[in-house]
Amino acid sequence: MKNDCVFCAIAAGEIPAFKVYEDELVLAYLDINPFSKGHTLVIPKAHTEGLLDTSDETLAAVIARVKKVAAHLKSALPCDGFNILQNNGEAAGQTVKHVHFHIVPRYGNEPIVFENHPGDMSALAALAQRVSLVSAV
Ligand code: 5GP
Ligand code: ZN
Repeated sequence: MKNDCVFCAIAAGEIPAFKVYEDELVLAYLDINPFSKGHTLVIPKAHTEGLLDTSDETLAAVIARVKKVAAHLKSALPCDGFNILQNNGEAAGQTVKHVHFHIVPRYGNEPIVFENHPGDMSALAALAQRVSLVSAV
């Protein structure tokens, strides 16, 4: 891992991920400790730490992909709604210092705690097979 960043390692293919969407600029994959079923992270492949050091151009590209992936998940899961979260700094709960957006699917009136829960890897793999827009997951 060249810069000790786990999301850069995922973008470089050095660490596996359950990919949902990929293009030349952006990657989306299932969070391994999901808040809810289908919790997905969307990152720019190029490393920046948070919102403030990321260019407007990159943010525009990433948020467009957040919209595309959220729309896809809404029908493919399906879910009834979703939250978009984006944490900056430890005080805000940011644990991975590579800018990312969370898409957190919501189901009916199901309550949610915005806390990570260790994911079931075989369930995540099966879910990725079902909802991924990437041909080889
Ligand atoms: P943050 O708290 O920084 O906004 O969110 C980081 C997210 O990254 C957490 O929800 C955590 O579960 C997720 N995460 C951390 N390491 C990995 C990993 O190796 N793979 C995946 N898919 N998600 C990760
Ligand atoms: Zn990084």
